[in-house]
Amino acid sequence: MQLLKNVDLFDPAPRGVVDVLVGGGAVLAASPGLEVQGTRGLVEVHDLQGARVIPGLVDAHVHVTGGGGEAGFSSRVPPRMVSELALAGVTTVVGLLGTDGRTRTMRELIARTYGLREEGLSAWCWTGSYEMPVRTLTGSVRDDIVFIEPVLGVGELAISDHRSSQPTLEELLRVASDVHVAGLMTNKAGVLHLHLGDGPRGLELVQQSCERTELPARVFHPTHLNRNRELLSSAVSMMGDESNFGGMRFDLTAFPEGDIGDGLSAADALAEIHAARGSCDGVTVSSDGGGCMPKFDAQGRIVAYGVGQSSTLLETVATSVNGHGLALAQVLPCVTSTVAQLLELRSKGRVVPGADADLVVLGEGCAVRHVMARGRWMVRDGVCVAPGPFESPH
Ligand SMILES: [Zn+2]
Repeated sequence: MQLLKNVDLFDPAPRGVVDVLVGGGAVLAASPGLEVQGTRGLVEVHDLQGARVIPGLVDAHVHVTGGGGEAGFSSRVPPRMVSELALAGVTTVVGLLGTDGRTRTMRELIARTYGLREEGLSAWCWTGSYEMPVRTLTGSVRDDIVFIEPVLGVGELAISDHRSSQPTLEELLRVASDVHVAGLMTNKAGVLHLHLGDGPRGLELVQQSCERTELPARVFHPTHLNRNRELLSSAVSMMGDESNFGGMRFDLTAFPEGDIGDGLSAADALAEIHAARGSCDGVTVSSDGGGCMPKFDAQGRIVAYGVGQSSTLLETVATSVNGHGLALAQVLPCVTSTVAQLLELRSKGRVVPGADADLVVLGEGCAVRHVMARGRWMVRDGVCVAPGPFESPH
């Protein structure tokens, strides 16, 4: 067991200065003045002297096998290492394939998902890629979700993008219904995580899906919504339309600085949403870690490249708080509890008794100081102390 004394806890709501007791990979208690008696030698005590502690981040969009591949075979991004995620404060990750569902396969994705679990993180994945019909492991979306434990839904299926399979409304609805029903059967989230491109049709297919069918809006989780202004403003107006889109979660991408193009940074988008709606409720932020951030010319040819990093999540939180004056507790749910709730990861995204012991101790300006995943220290004083087998401590 470990007793973390004097932590300024955001669970993600602000709880003031408390002590947190961790044991068996879970949070056992979180309250002021905790004392553990009769356990001499069994409890390691760390006095954190008022440092802020937040839940380990839940990143729902990471190309754990590496994404890319849009500029020839040499443009395939290498697989992501556990240290990159841990150093970014990410303790729960949902892996996915992207444009390339051919040289990258579900076999590889599921293997990397299990690998990250062995390395100490919590990991799940989406089945599919940009493509339709969906590139599954078993040949069926329903079977993948029902029979493969880490699969939470389908993603990232691409719409409104020149790289998408250009699904019709009916084709998209068939996938969404498979995802929804398989989710019901398994008590999993059953979510269709949709990549939105820069195309002028924007969120039209998502809107029509909700307006014309019985499918719950929560099934649809559109992402990259801050990639251009039009997309963000249609997302904001959908957020205000509870009757059609209530329960839908809207995902922003924490693009690396310099890779924002015509879009807004996730921090700027959060500030705009907060200004328009008075809160960031219903918004999630993911990193697109390991994804390529290509810029295309009018003919669909790549003119520049970048690679997504999970570290942009906490950078987004820091800029929202320090640059835009939002409260930490306003922004944190977007990268912790709101994501976990949507994905029905019931022991994730919060530091409360019974939850998994996934937490981040913050330093100055939201820098990552220590990270614990399932009760085990992954990062101490900014150094990854549990690197994967093919990396050295750093
Ligand atoms: Zn994408």
